[in-house]
Amino acid sequence: MKFNQHLEGIKTYEAGKPIELVVREFGIEPKDIIKLASNENPHGCSTKVQEAVSKIVAKMALYPDDSMLKLKNALSAHYDVQNENIIIGAGSDQVIEFLMHAKAHHGTKVLINSVTFAMYEIYAKHVGAQIIKTASQEHNLDEFYALYQEHKPEIIFLCTPNNPTGDAIDAKALKEFVAKIDEDTLVVVDGAYMEYAAHKDETKRLTPKELMEAYKNVIYLGTFSKAYGLGGMRVGYGIADKAIIEQLYKLRPPFNITTLSLEAASVALSDQDFVAYSLADCFAEMKRYEEFAKAQKIDIINSYTNFVTLCLNDANDSSKLAYELLKRGMIVRDLKGYGLNAIRVTVGTEQQNSRFFALAQELLN
Ligand SMILES: *Cc1c(COP(=O)(O)O)cnc(C)c1O
Repeated sequence: MKFNQHLEGIKTYEAGKPIELVVREFGIEPKDIIKLASNENPHGCSTKVQEAVSKIVAKMALYPDDSMLKLKNALSAHYDVQNENIIIGAGSDQVIEFLMHAKAHHGTKVLINSVTFAMYEIYAKHVGAQIIKTASQEHNLDEFYALYQEHKPEIIFLCTPNNPTGDAIDAKALKEFVAKIDEDTLVVVDGAYMEYAAHKDETKRLTPKELMEAYKNVIYLGTFSKAYGLGGMRVGYGIADKAIIEQLYKLRPPFNITTLSLEAASVALSDQDFVAYSLADCFAEMKRYEEFAKAQKIDIINSYTNFVTLCLNDANDSSKLAYELLKRGMIVRDLKGYGLNAIRVTVGTEQQNSRFFALAQELLN
């Protein structure tokens, strides 16, 4: 059977390996498996969320509130924007998909960083759009601007902080860049890890409000999957000028967020103490990764996120290391597929990180 030809160039997204797979493949007990592969919050989520969700499980039979009023009100208060500036997706992934279908099509161009979140390219290819990549590993805005002038892309993605490298763009430089972009080009600022960056360094902090008010062609993306610890609930959002949001709404399937997920996200947003604790603990533990890398003489990218990227020397192969760790019940992310001899490790709890150091020390040459 023939399928759309533009699907041929798509490499299926490989998600972080679930614990269940390691149980099956290696016969390791679930309690002995540590997953540091998908940048989830190692502290789980706020206990207030668990209480709230368990109180409404009986509502499962009914369709969710499709206006999503409770969550929209919570988000608009948190970010000081209006409800009409917000669209909620099943993860911010779904908002990326809406954006692509709203703006890109066969033959149009989408500009992304050479190493960045894989879903931009996959969704671009869904609609047959052409991907243009920079050469630099870190976002180089001069290079972005030169490629923008040469190709006039429909969409530009800026991922700050960037996944899978962890570096972040200077907020002032990003705004100066956007100011030079024509209003017909959509600039996507993916802030999946912005809570971490803003905690670590004020000069990296970008808010959806300042972007939206200054630029009609920017959309800010956020997610509950990382700092809020709700990866399993699938809730993300886009915040932009009303004119953009109205178009995206045309592509949204009804009831795209479940009743339980809407409740979870609303309550999660109200417990900023939990988020603050998670952020502080993450960067305290990250110091240990920096010391470990120094002691092992391997490069670590300065990270503004909840993960670290360890760049291996020639004596070590990232795929082999990731596999050896996996056999021992430690799931990390091999970045070979991104063209890097590196592994990405989510900063876990103190105990999980200690286990990683012990195993990696044993395996590194
Ligand atoms: C995790 C992540 C997302 C979105 O995750 P969802 O779970 O779909 O909300 C978006 N962008 C980047 C860079 C990410 O790492």
